[in-house]
Amino acid sequence: MAIERTFSIIKPDAVRRNLIGKIVAKFEENGLRPVAMKKIKMTRAQAEGFYAVHKERPFFGELVEQMIASPVVVQVLEGENAVLKNREIMGATNPANAAEGTIRKLFALNMGENSVHGSDSPENAAIEIKFFFTDDEIVG
Ligand code: ADP
Ligand code: MG
Repeated sequence: MAIERTFSIIKPDAVRRNLIGKIVAKFEENGLRPVAMKKIKMTRAQAEGFYAVHKERPFFGELVEQMIASPVVVQVLEGENAVLKNREIMGATNPANAAEGTIRKLFALNMGENSVHGSDSPENAAIEIKFFFTDDEIVG
């Protein structure tokens, strides 16, 4: 297995409920190390650009509003098989379907406010990392 990097967002619903530490602990306990991390307030343009793939979906407007409502924590996570491992740690998009012990099972409020984002492929991880981080912000 290769060492990979993936992109993660701790979403507004989780940041508002003081869950940053508990969520980062889940990543660290499962072998994913944050190699870059910052708290930002996403702009509308960033949120619309980041989720452009979903722009025709009925939930797009609500998703953008939720993502810009209050600060998020963006991270680059590094570890073996990081993309897939992060998706396992996160759990299913709909928390009702998320496995026991996953972040979304533990913390998500509903399908939209589901506490975390994670890249779905190594290709998208590279694109998403570049969307929020410069090379010199990734410090290992
Ligand atoms: P994931 O975040 O698990 O990769 P998607 O890429 O399919 O899921 O969707 C992106 C985000 O859009 C989800 O995390 C969730 O916040 C929101 N979303 C997806 N589907 C719905 C839906 N049916 N209703 C409301 N929000 C949704
Ligand atoms: Mg997705």
